[in-house]
Amino acid sequence: MKLSTRGATRLQARHPWVYRSDIIEANDVPPGAIVRALDQRGKFLGTALYSSSSQIAIRMISHGSVTDLPDLVAERIRAAIAYRKELVTNTDAYRIVFSEADFLPGLIVDRYSDVLSVQILTQAMDAALVRGAVVQTLREELQPAGIVERVDARIRELEQLPPLASRLLWGEKSSTVIDMNGVRFHYDGLEGQKTGAFLDQRENYAAAAQYAHGEALDAFCYQGGFALHLAPKCSSVTGVDSSRPALEMAEKNAALNGRELEWIEGNAFDLLREYAAAHRRYDTIVLDPPAFAKTRRDLEKALGGYKELNLRAMKMLRPGGILVTCSCSFHVSGADFLEVVADAARDVHRSFRLVENRGAAKDHPMLLNVPETSYLKCLILMVSN
Ligand code: SAH
Repeated sequence: MKLSTRGATRLQARHPWVYRSDIIEANDVPPGAIVRALDQRGKFLGTALYSSSSQIAIRMISHGSVTDLPDLVAERIRAAIAYRKELVTNTDAYRIVFSEADFLPGLIVDRYSDVLSVQILTQAMDAALVRGAVVQTLREELQPAGIVERVDARIRELEQLPPLASRLLWGEKSSTVIDMNGVRFHYDGLEGQKTGAFLDQRENYAAAAQYAHGEALDAFCYQGGFALHLAPKCSSVTGVDSSRPALEMAEKNAALNGRELEWIEGNAFDLLREYAAAHRRYDTIVLDPPAFAKTRRDLEKALGGYKELNLRAMKMLRPGGILVTCSCSFHVSGADFLEVVADAARDVHRSFRLVENRGAAKDHPMLLNVPETSYLKCLILMVSN
C-alpha cells in the first residue's frame, strides 16, 4: 500500500495513523487486512492494520515485517503486562493494554482484580484468530476468573462490524470487588459507563486524598471514586451526580468501606450555582465532569462550561481550601485547561497555588508525538486567601 509523502513522514515520526487521504495506491485490500506500508518510491516503512471504513485507514503495528499477527498480539500483551508490573502499585485494578500506547491499536484490556475486560475497536482486532490469541494470552499470564467483552455499539457500526452484545468471553465471573489505594469498589463488567470504573483517575484519587480536609464536595462523583478516597481525611463528604444508578453504586461502595457519605442526585451546574449564591463554603472541592468537547467544534462551548464550574467552586472554597479540577476532553489541551482555570481564578479575585499538575495514571501511558494518547488533565490547587 503506497502512502503520500505526508503519510510516510507521519509514520517515520512514529505516529501510528495514516488517514485515507494519504493513501495513494491500494488494490483490493479487504477490511481488517495486514498491509505493508510503502512510501511513494516503494520503500518499505512497516506493517499496518487496514480499516475499510475509518478515516484512519491504517494503524501501524510494527516497523518490521509481520508474518503472524496473533503471535505478535500475544507478544505485545505480554510486554504490556510486564510494563505495568514495574509501575503499578497499590491496586488490583488497572489498564493492561491501552491501544496505540501499547502498540496494539484497537485493543483495550482492563484488569479488575480477577475479572478482565476486553474492548475491540477495529476490524483487524476483531478477527477470530486475534480474539483467540487475546483470550489465551490473558488466561495464561493472569489466570482470571472471567473475561468479559464490553461492546461499544457505535464503534462497531462505524467500523462496519456486525453488532455484538457485551458478554462473558471466558470463565464464569463478570463482577467482583476491586481495591484501589486501600479503598474498595464493586465492579460489574456488564453494567456501568465506560469500562465500569475510571481507572485513569486512580493515582489522582490518592493525590487528592493527600491534601483533602474539612467539608468536601465531589461534583460529578459517578460511583464515588474521589468521594470515597476523601472520606477518611474529611469531616463530611457530599457527592453529586445526575445518574441515579451511579449513586446507587456509590452508596454500595460507601457501605463496603464502612463509610457514611451524602449523595445528591442532580445537575451539578445548577447545584454549584445555587450553593455559590447561597454562600455555602467548602474546604475541598472536586470537579470531574464528562468530556464537554466531543469534537473540535465544541471547544469554545466546552471552555465556557469549564470556566463556569471552576468559577463557582473557587468562590466557595475557604482559605487554605483545595480544588481538584479535571478535564477528560481530548480537544481541550493541557495549556487550554490551565488557561481557563486561571481565567476563573482572575474573575474571583483569589490567589491559588498550583500544587500538582497531573494526568492519567501510569497504566494509561502517553506516547510522545502521539497527542491522541493523552486526554486527562487534573490540577490540584490551593487557595491562599
Ligand atoms: N469522578 C468520577 C467520574 C466522573 S464521570 C470517578 O472518578 O469515578 C462524569 C460523571 O458526570 C458521570 O457519572 C455522569 O453521570 C455525570 N454527569 C454528567 N452530566 C452531569 C450533570 N450535568 N450534573 C451532574 N452529573 C453529571
